[in-house]
Amino acid sequence: CQDARSKLEYISPDGLRLDGRRPEELRRIRCQLAVFSRANGSAYFEQGNTKVIAAVYGPRDVGNKTKALHDRAIINCEYSMATFSTGERKKRSKGDRRSAEISLVIKKTFESVIVTTLFPRSQIDIFVQVLQADGGTRCASINAATLALIDAGIPMKDFVCACAAGCIEGTPLLDLNYIEDSAGGPDVPLALLPQTQTIAMLQMDSKLPIETFEKVMALAMEGCKAIHKVLSEEVMKHTKHLVVSRAVQ
Ligand code: UDP
Repeated sequence: CQDARSKLEYISPDGLRLDGRRPEELRRIRCQLAVFSRANGSAYFEQGNTKVIAAVYGPRDVGNKTKALHDRAIINCEYSMATFSTGERKKRSKGDRRSAEISLVIKKTFESVIVTTLFPRSQIDIFVQVLQADGGTRCASINAATLALIDAGIPMKDFVCACAAGCIEGTPLLDLNYIEDSAGGPDVPLALLPQTQTIAMLQMDSKLPIETFEKVMALAMEGCKAIHKVLSEEVMKHTKHLVVSRAVQ
């Protein structure tokens, strides 16, 4: 399999990727707010073949009172993958090291953005589940969580928009899919607060020269800005729909 992959032509002589995209092109994005009625907020986010749902509960009383903070809310996050989300059926959907790491990354990202001081002694719970995985699930989870938090009416300093970029055979590529991610090159997921251009999260799973890193990071930032446009349009559409349906009642 590794031999087959090393012979794969990730970028054609015409400069196109295996799925027909140009190097700086995102996969198609679809998203929707308020997909579940029982959670305080929820959302669906799809980027190419990566599909994720998010649900938010809270602010609510802290279940374990010893963990309550007197001056702010605590944020909990649980990332899981459906057992049918990957090519090989997963035996465990959560609780493995990777899920724990991604849950922590999402929690830390939102802790810096949610105005937690408004809700002392409370907790806000974010649940994200990957329905179908094809690379970039942590970024898709952050985007889904942003929409679900907005749907729940949780005050945030800004949108959190996430996108990864990588590099194969010296060409920086935006938004790697699973085959591209499996090529073994660097993959740099980044979360951006678009208004202030602040980086809320950045990870790097391999070493790369500083010039390459700068190119890859710039590409990931452009991806985040494009995703911000899609998310804000969807929020606007949802808000208009709410205003119209309330006016009719
Ligand atoms: N993946 C998988 N099974 C797993 C974990 C990951 O098939 O148990 C695939 C999935 O498509 C995922 C990709 O590997 O999107 C890359 O995983 P990584 O840990 O780099 O995180 P991601 O890119 O999803 O944020």
